[in-house]
Amino acid sequence: MTPVPPIAAERLPELLRRMPKAELHIHIEGSLEPELIFEMARRNRVALPYASVEELRRAYAFTNLQSFLDIYYAGASVLITERDFHDMAWAYLQKARADNVLHAEIFFDPQTHTARGVAMETVLNGLHQACVRAQADLGLSASLILCFLRHLSEAEAFETLEAALPLRDKFIGVGLDSSEVGHPPEKFARVFARCRELGLHLVAHAGEEGPPAYVWTALDLLKVERIDHGVQSTKDAQLMRRLAQDRIPLTVCPLSNLKLCVFPALGQHNLRELLDAGLVATVNSDDPAYFGGYLNDNFTQTFAATGLSAQQAWQLAANSFEASFIGADAKRRYRDQLDAAFAAFA
Ligand SMILES: [Zn+2]
Repeated sequence: MTPVPPIAAERLPELLRRMPKAELHIHIEGSLEPELIFEMARRNRVALPYASVEELRRAYAFTNLQSFLDIYYAGASVLITERDFHDMAWAYLQKARADNVLHAEIFFDPQTHTARGVAMETVLNGLHQACVRAQADLGLSASLILCFLRHLSEAEAFETLEAALPLRDKFIGVGLDSSEVGHPPEKFARVFARCRELGLHLVAHAGEEGPPAYVWTALDLLKVERIDHGVQSTKDAQLMRRLAQDRIPLTVCPLSNLKLCVFPALGQHNLRELLDAGLVATVNSDDPAYFGGYLNDNFTQTFAATGLSAQQAWQLAANSFEASFIGADAKRRYRDQLDAAFAAFA
């Protein structure tokens, strides 16, 4: 670990904004801002159940995962063409670059779109074009992770995988998202086994609202390399030891946890506990348009509420690169950039 000299509390937000970082838990459909939803609805002639951008913003006052998901799927209904998928991802990637994100691994939910008659190629080509453009125009590397909606069936997940395989070069892995409780990881054990044979990276949401048992089965039955959220793991000491020993990263999303009432207040978030236990915890934005902030907002608000230090800022950024699916050379390069940014700041 690179030791970081103490930095005055009032300079910490600037350090958090400036430090290079990776984002590993962002649902691209969750980056869709009300303004862009209305613009796409207009150009695609989709009728929205909201009269104005302001009314849609007001509807974002949801209280749990399910009430959020209901609005989330309504917002995604405006995405029809390749250009729409490109524009959505491009809007996110520009914001990420402004937050000094150097690398992003982006979730997308093809079933949300194919169920509406949008072709898999339309979704993947549009998103992929934005990733290619981000590397060329922003110097930001970005790759895509296909997520299965866990409230749907195993058979539907297999169909989705089949539809995506002709475009295998455009995504690096698969994940599992949507309503967690009642849909344990083991429901998708065979799908993940197939994805593993195909050489895809494997991640899954587990232990967000669901119990530590879901984290265990994500690890042991799905054989995932990263756990998305995983904050309920602190309830199980044996699981915490496993996560630390095997260096299984957790992609933690503090503002999402706050908005979905996983924690009653940001000051009560367990990020510090995860770091103190030696876990490879990272900070991410999840669905930034809906949860009140992009990556730097997650960092600055969480640090302000919990009193984490500059050393922990460095650790979280270093963890984000370690936890990413990039090669060892790229990891070393990003880590050097991180150390240089801290040295320049001190
Ligand atoms: Zn998520």
